Amino acid sequence: CGPGAVMGSKNLKAIVVSGNKSVPIEDEKKYRSGFQQGHHRLKAAPATKRILRELGTAGLVKLIDAIDMLPHNNFQDTIHRQEDLDKICGETIHKTILEKVGGCYRCPIACQRHTKVGDKTGEGPEYETVVLMGPVCGIYDLATITRANYLCNELGLDTISFGGTVAAAMELYERGVITSQDTGGLELRFGNASVLEALVILTAHRKGFGDQLAEGSLRLTGRYGHPEISMSIKGMELPAYDPRASYTQALGYMTSPTGACHLRGGYAVSLAFFGGSKEIPRFSIRQSPVAVRNVQDLGIVQDSLGVCRFTGYAFTIETWSRMLSGVTGEDFSTHYLEKLAQRIAALERLFNLEAGFTDKDDTLPERFQKEPIHTEGMDVVVKKEHIEKLRRDYYKVRNWDEHGIPNRELLQKLNIDDNFDDGSYD
Ligand code: SF4
Repeated sequence: CGPGAVMGSKNLKAIVVSGNKSVPIEDEKKYRSGFQQGHHRLKAAPATKRILRELGTAGLVKLIDAIDMLPHNNFQDTIHRQEDLDKICGETIHKTILEKVGGCYRCPIACQRHTKVGDKTGEGPEYETVVLMGPVCGIYDLATITRANYLCNELGLDTISFGGTVAAAMELYERGVITSQDTGGLELRFGNASVLEALVILTAHRKGFGDQLAEGSLRLTGRYGHPEISMSIKGMELPAYDPRASYTQALGYMTSPTGACHLRGGYAVSLAFFGGSKEIPRFSIRQSPVAVRNVQDLGIVQDSLGVCRFTGYAFTIETWSRMLSGVTGEDFSTHYLEKLAQRIAALERLFNLEAGFTDKDDTLPERFQKEPIHTEGMDVVVKKEHIEKLRRDYYKVRNWDEHGIPNRELLQKLNIDDNFDDGSYD
């Protein structure tokens, strides 16, 4: 969303790059060893071999529900009727609205789904869209979710933030904090699919109640004196994995530099299943900080290389190290790439500190600390003391101080210019 906003402000629609020369490979043997290893693992890992390939990302709906992690009604619980999930899951998309499968250039997974509803066609809906504009708003109507998804794509709205903001508005409405007088006559009840498409258009054009939705859930709920109803961290709405069902995912959201983001915070949920040798217990306070740091660092390397996040289901930094070293002829060892990731994480932290964020912002909305979900035979919340311990141990793993500040010694070790520190966050 950030680069899109910058481009929009400059009236820049797209950047087209073309060329007709091939990319020379310095060390073909080394590159091939990494490429073949990566390719082999993509073909072997359950997520990339089967789920994403056969069903696209929406293939995760039933799996995430199986570990009681699929949010419902603005994250009030994770309870769904199976017959409702059957209406919106990846299997149903495959059987009912799928037109064709697509993928990025030469990707062996090909997770994209081109769909058709009535006379409208488009891409998606992806897993996050299905859940945020679906069950998080109490909606299980695939045709409506898909049409609203097409509209969001056309109008440039992020479906996670949009869905999370509508869900917060629905909770405000159901609690009587706002009424149809505030919403321009729209009945914003959970499950009311008939308002979804109208809300996308109103929000994109900042018309009527859409002008308030366009501010996001934190400002919307704050305006009515109930910021606790916004399921957001650092102002960003949560994606479709309930943090009470995995401490690793909870810590990922808490420490993501951009707010509650499954990409920047790490696909930590994948460690709770599909993890293979990486799999860790999802309620492990001891193992979560290292696991989250590792998955975040892998994400930083993937982002720096401009490669797909889903490769992380199958292989890690070591495979990228071989390919990158082979292409460039330079020694990009695993250790070197890990150090680069630490450096980027520290720089992002410094940026946030200068922007006024503190360790107090590395937390979860109160709902996740006080209102339990039921999973594995237990009522589970992420208690305040658990949040504090996870956060403290994560800072230690990152070699940051107890307030999450990278100290001067670390900055020197990571070759970060001391001038960056103007002392404002000391
Ligand atoms: S590169 Fe990633 S996003 Fe693109 S089709 Fe392959 S798996 Fe999907």
